[in-house]
Amino acid sequence: MSKTKKHTPALGSDYSAKMKSRYAEKVKTSSKIYTKADRRDNRIVENMTVEPEQEATEKTLIKGGCLCGAVRFKTNGTLRPVINCHCGQCLHTHGHYAAYTSVDKKNFQLVNDTGLKWFRSSNEARRGFCQECGASIFFERLGGSNISIAAGMLDPSKGLKTAEHIFVADKPDYYEIEDDLPKHPQYYK
Ligand SMILES: [Zn+2]
Repeated sequence: MSKTKKHTPALGSDYSAKMKSRYAEKVKTSSKIYTKADRRDNRIVENMTVEPEQEATEKTLIKGGCLCGAVRFKTNGTLRPVINCHCGQCLHTHGHYAAYTSVDKKNFQLVNDTGLKWFRSSNEARRGFCQECGASIFFERLGGSNISIAAGMLDPSKGLKTAEHIFVADKPDYYEIEDDLPKHPQYYK
């Protein structure tokens, strides 16, 4: 009931207020990063054995979420390099091929799931999306230990790279894959 209430009218003002707070949050985050970087630069001449440990702790917390913020998550796990999936299911939910990273569920936490809805996309998997803004966010193999996260959902994260392409046999003709990364006709592993 309360959920249904949230989804009805009031969009205009409510939505822009949300977006404003999202932008405000972003500005805060990046200025924080600058402060940390400055601090690190200033300390370089000092004790260098302590600093790398501190930096690693800061770096491992990665946050992300959908366009409207009704789905937010955080992870302190190691993100798998991004795999681009060209299968028909990904095309139909993302509107283009999907770019997914993945993380161990043990190191993954939903911070806000008010917009989260799961769609059982096959016998083996389900996909999580935001029912407020329509973002396609998660892919999860049922019973699996990992959760796949659409890479664009991450708050600006440095260093994450794309590693390969899967299901290229299903790729439609309207685009080409122009990099030299490994291309697998189907899934692999
Ligand atoms: Zn959303």
